Amino acid sequence: MKEPLQFDEISGLPDRGHIWSLLEDSLHLARRNKGISGVLLIHINNLDGIKELLGEEGVAEFMKTIGGRIKNSIWELDGVVHYEDDQFVIVANSINRLEDIHVVMKKVHEYLAIECEINGQNIIPSTSIGIVLLPHDTMEVEEVMGLAEQALKSARPRGENNYAYYNQDIGEQIEELEAVKGAIMATLAAESFVMMLQPKIDTHSNSICGVEALVRMRDSEGELVTPDEFIPVAENSNLIMEIGEWVLLKAKALVKDWSARGIDIPVSINISDVQFKKSAALISALHSLKEEDDFDTSKLILEISENSITDNPMISAAILSEFQNCGYQVSIDGFGSGFSSLSLLKDLKVDEIKIDRHFLNDVPEDEKSTAILQSIIMLGKSMDFRVVCMGVESEEQYEILKKHNCDELQGYLISKPLDVSDFEEWFKNYTS
Ligand code: C2E
Ligand code: CA
Repeated sequence: MKEPLQFDEISGLPDRGHIWSLLEDSLHLARRNKGISGVLLIHINNLDGIKELLGEEGVAEFMKTIGGRIKNSIWELDGVVHYEDDQFVIVANSINRLEDIHVVMKKVHEYLAIECEINGQNIIPSTSIGIVLLPHDTMEVEEVMGLAEQALKSARPRGENNYAYYNQDIGEQIEELEAVKGAIMATLAAESFVMMLQPKIDTHSNSICGVEALVRMRDSEGELVTPDEFIPVAENSNLIMEIGEWVLLKAKALVKDWSARGIDIPVSINISDVQFKKSAALISALHSLKEEDDFDTSKLILEISENSITDNPMISAAILSEFQNCGYQVSIDGFGSGFSSLSLLKDLKVDEIKIDRHFLNDVPEDEKSTAILQSIIMLGKSMDFRVVCMGVESEEQYEILKKHNCDELQGYLISKPLDVSDFEEWFKNYTS
């Protein structure tokens, strides 16, 4: 039977004795559901000074304030105890990903760093936090607090309101992720994402038949960061929804601007798997754009990765139909990278397939690779899809694609992605 909860008289929080059952429950959850928990050991660095300043009664008031703030900074599922005179422990069970504990830690720091007014004195608490992750750091309940104390020991010399992870490698990974997330949020707030355009050409006439919009972020030094470095992080944290919305609106504005200036080429945009799975938001955004004057939806091509579709082909087919009912074109991106392409194709209504870049890797040197490429092109053509090949880098590859009737191609041979004004300049001077 569990011991009844004892509360610390001063802070009003469960006392130290409660920590064991909290940790046991967390480790039990971790074992059963492969869940993750974070343990935060919070130390009030300046409690001695505060005691001198406020006396016993004032300190009781201060600790009550701190206890209340800690309780308010966490979710109901999470546990908290008053562990030592100047230490509190939060056991956060409500986290899905390791990096979520960083968010909890930052929230606790923020709540605690607010000035408190006690007996006419303004006090600013200074805190340090040691962080342990379960089950990553240990599965042994007896070890947890020892590890948290070691982490706290590393945090304290780092100065006021700092923290340290027991496992420094995980800590560094989380910090990197958080830094990228912070940069994405700042870029969204400043609306300073950059849209690059990479042309596609018609293989037979050599004329420009479209562009693919490829997003870039600027780092703190103003350098462009490629999507591989931030799209996966954005996808993991839902920020991709905001990036996707920005790209959609930017591409729509470009289509409208070009149509007003007589530039008649479609713009392809990449739809992330996360956006595709939350299709209601995307469909509603696409519907509302359709209502805008001077916007021809057929000039926007939505590139959906093959993997997004293979996860649930029936639902995907219905979503793709919604896109097409609004007049948008649909392309399957990275075609051939999954393994169910053939059965997929039969039931899908799409306008275009984009053959994955890796199919060109050993073309033309390797005969088998060339034969595979040729059969994918033939398959797409026999189903009446427009067939585009990505990543064309050499004249030899171009000649082979032309010979096998691939409709369009895109790659460094034609041009690397360019920003909008460079692309317009390049387009003006392009002769097929
Ligand atoms: P993707 O859709 O397959 O885009 C093509 C990538 O291949 C682009 O990289 C492009 O610069 C690169 N590429 C084009 N031609 C060549 C070539 O001849 N050789 C080589 N080696 N590479 C070539 P980028 O711009 O770094 O984009 C990488 C991926 O990031 C994209 O792959 C796409 O999945 C994602 N991405 C880019 N922009 C967006 C976006 O706006 N939204 C979403 N959700 N994803 C995006
Ligand atoms: Ca693409």
